Amino acid sequence: NAQAEGLSTTATSYPTTHDKIENPEDTHWFIDNQFVKSSTDKFIDLHDPATNNLVTRVPQNTPEELKAAVASAEKAYEGWRNTSVLHRQAIMFKFVGLIRENWDRLAASITLEQGKTFADARGDVLRGLQVAEAACGAPELLKGEVLEVAKDMETRTYREPLGVVAAICPFNFPAMIPLWCIPIATVTGNTLILKPSERDPGAAMILAELVQKAGFPPGVVNIIHGAHDTVNFILDEPAIKAISFVGGNKAGEYIFSRGSANGKRVQANLGAKNHAAVLPDCNKNQFLNAVVGAAFGAAGQRCMALSTLVMIGETKEWLPDLAERAKGLSVNGGFEAGADLGPVITPHSKQRIESLIASAEEEGAKILLDGRGFAPEKYPNGNWIAPTIITDVTPSMRCYREEIFGPVLVCLNVDTLDEAIDLINANEYGNGVAVFTRSGPTAETFRRRIEAGQVGINVPIPVPLPMFSFTGNKKSIAGGGVSTFYGKPGVNFYTQLKTVTSMWASTDAISKKADVAMPTHG
Ligand code: NAD
Repeated sequence: NAQAEGLSTTATSYPTTHDKIENPEDTHWFIDNQFVKSSTDKFIDLHDPATNNLVTRVPQNTPEELKAAVASAEKAYEGWRNTSVLHRQAIMFKFVGLIRENWDRLAASITLEQGKTFADARGDVLRGLQVAEAACGAPELLKGEVLEVAKDMETRTYREPLGVVAAICPFNFPAMIPLWCIPIATVTGNTLILKPSERDPGAAMILAELVQKAGFPPGVVNIIHGAHDTVNFILDEPAIKAISFVGGNKAGEYIFSRGSANGKRVQANLGAKNHAAVLPDCNKNQFLNAVVGAAFGAAGQRCMALSTLVMIGETKEWLPDLAERAKGLSVNGGFEAGADLGPVITPHSKQRIESLIASAEEEGAKILLDGRGFAPEKYPNGNWIAPTIITDVTPSMRCYREEIFGPVLVCLNVDTLDEAIDLINANEYGNGVAVFTRSGPTAETFRRRIEAGQVGINVPIPVPLPMFSFTGNKKSIAGGGVSTFYGKPGVNFYTQLKTVTSMWASTDAISKKADVAMPTHG
């Protein structure tokens, strides 16, 4: 039995250096609480972005394996949905504790496979862990409502799980995004099939190990791998009732429409072009630190990266200070002490980012700080781009219209707050935005008029904590933002409301004639 080969209950351990791994192990898939070697002959090579050394090969699961994952999740569903919410809560508490214990191991896998610095990778884990912590409040979150609607009659609501649900994850937050899904999908009584990004599934595999150790029954969380074939399987498999997607617009719009056409619930968080508007009355030093951190941290590979700066009035004179501060960042292997940002994910991504920088030059913008051609001495073969600042940008340029997803800040100039708001609102994306000012009325005008889902007032990356929800807008979220991740809307997404109206009459009916008019309870 090919599947039995390589069975284990422990994910691979991760080194905390970028040294070449001798005989890298293939990534396993996870079914029924066991790690299984895939019988496929199709693999996707995964390289350390700092060195381009091979880290692992990620299988494209075979059609039989994909079907087996669904059968396992279907089998687990009946038992799991019938466990008490307190039992599920107890498992979630255990899961939370295990994530804390394995925090550094999770972060190391992220630094190795994704490239972000170890400190940043720890933040990636923490932002997911906080969702798991919030999911421990399930008994409160799942409470229904009840109303006595008439004498002897009441209506009550129940939140019921959907069944088997699936998650399709991006490469840029290998722990946080799986943890947007695993805790809420499962604590509400669903079973989950998760497909991590084929570019960095390591953190998800460690989470799978913790799922097993926390006491989730076999099949409640299964992990499958691959690219398009696996996604298409998820989209078309009738047993899968809902899909959570986070990633770019190309994949996300396709997944939203095909998944929805197949009758599934789909939530999809997509790409971004986040603007910061800066006013001359702001705290300049705080602004400079905030924008440099939020534009270049994680090498700009965050959906909430502040990638576009709208400089109002004389703030354009601060550009040299901005460049100076950006130049001071250390670009290095993520395990190196003092590294501020690591490499970008793949050589292809580096090439795409460099071509967007070149297009800006061709279209008449200026490259104030050019990060092309840089490589740290110790890591000559990585996918490096140092912080880059492009100025004199106009909205028609490619570097403004497209999501760059790299350590590149594009800067535009306007004269007034109104012009800044109009410019930002004309952009197709609406994920996050920030305004820097010391004026309350200015901030309030901005807050009311701006068309973005997440607004920071002197806060550069306003990602809401899990007691709120991640609220994109416009092209940054599919389906008009009806369904958002985590918080109460996350619980809504993973549950179906059932309303039950019952009558327990205290006296027997007297009339012998049926009442055929629409009941109104009036
Ligand atoms: P991506 O869209 O390339 O990949 C995401 C997932 O979709 C992966 O699992 C991948 O295997 C799959 N996929 C990719 N192309 C596909 C296709 N053509 N058909 C079917 N499946 C496909 O995204 P990425 O590069 O991994 O992540 C970066 C993107 O994610 C950026 O655009 C970023 O803004 C976005 N993102 C958004 C949020 C948010 O909450 N709005 C959060 C994180 C990342």
